[in-house]
Amino acid sequence: MASQKIPVARPRIGERERELVEDCLRSGWISSLGRYIGEFEERFADFCGVGHGVAVMNGTAALHLALLALGVGPGDEVLVPSLTFVATANAVTYTGARPVFVDSEPATGNLDVSDLERRITPASRAVIAAHLYGHPADMVAIGELVQRRGLALIEDAAEAHGAQILGEAGWRRVGSWGEAACFSFYGNKILTTGEGGMLVTDREDIARRARSLRDHGMSPDRVYWHPEIGYNYRMTNLQAAIGLGQLERVEEILAGKREVARLYQEGLAGIAGLRLPRELSWARSVFWMYSPLVGEEYPLDRDGLRRALEERGIDTRPFFHPLHTLPPYRREVELPVCQDLSRRGLNLPSGPDISPGEISRVCQALRDLGGRP
Ligand SMILES: *Cc1c(COP(=O)(O)O)cnc(C)c1O
Repeated sequence: MASQKIPVARPRIGERERELVEDCLRSGWISSLGRYIGEFEERFADFCGVGHGVAVMNGTAALHLALLALGVGPGDEVLVPSLTFVATANAVTYTGARPVFVDSEPATGNLDVSDLERRITPASRAVIAAHLYGHPADMVAIGELVQRRGLALIEDAAEAHGAQILGEAGWRRVGSWGEAACFSFYGNKILTTGEGGMLVTDREDIARRARSLRDHGMSPDRVYWHPEIGYNYRMTNLQAAIGLGQLERVEEILAGKREVARLYQEGLAGIAGLRLPRELSWARSVFWMYSPLVGEEYPLDRDGLRRALEERGIDTRPFFHPLHTLPPYRREVELPVCQDLSRRGLNLPSGPDISPGEISRVCQALRDLGGRP
């Protein structure tokens, strides 16, 4: 039986997004003025439990603006996980500061707090904590450390819209644990606007400065007056319209992601050599990607398994390369945990649109390929 190829992710665009985009087209508000931008900023900031949202053209721009708004620049060091998408480090480099790479903790791949502390120097200014593949980083421990050492803290929440962390005051979503948090709305993220991003923060000064910098550094009360050099990082009304439509369904999207994870957890249980993703007791992951590790006991290594799945019409992604091994960032450091995770980690098809039938096809393939003769 010929079956459809299963992609690693495809966005689900609803009727509501279509309606709102139609309205932009009809009214002519297709550029970066228009009422949906402010509305999207307000509602998304609300969703994150913070006071301000600054919508931008992508998540990388949000990171860049967060760093600039905190005054990070040449001569500074910013501690970042090595196991993350390259944008986390690139945004640091754009400011003239230097990214310093930190190892992962083994359970989730997120920042290892003791390695983080070891790598702090007198030049350290800030930490960017990413929530890898939807599982939040340990923001309570990281927050305590940055406070003690006088550093700024930014969340890279590009992969974790709606993930939650248990703090002293109960469960709280990602986006409110540092000075600022950055989200991406790229096509395969939890919420999408095609391309897009947002900086959210409780600090009015950061929001104000980010708003100005995204618009060529223009003064908020004097048109065409530019006291400094900024960027054109604006989001369009069209993107915001899509975002608003998505945000109306966010609870349904998040419940869908957890259901995908549950079906995988069930379908993959007991396969020797596959270590399934965990959810730590203080965390609620959004399982942006469902990402098992391929261990020694499995008959194929990660790349062999990817090829075999590809032959069966199943699309996957390998984990990111540790950033300290990429040509522009090559460093003479050993970060053994993230290097190991990077070699063994596999992202299975986890989009919002995947059906239970497709998930069981993936599970069956992993079971068959893992079977011993
Ligand atoms: C997607 C992503 C980004 C960048 O977002 P863009 O919208 O693609 O610029 C940044 N950090 C992480 C961890 C990401 O996954």
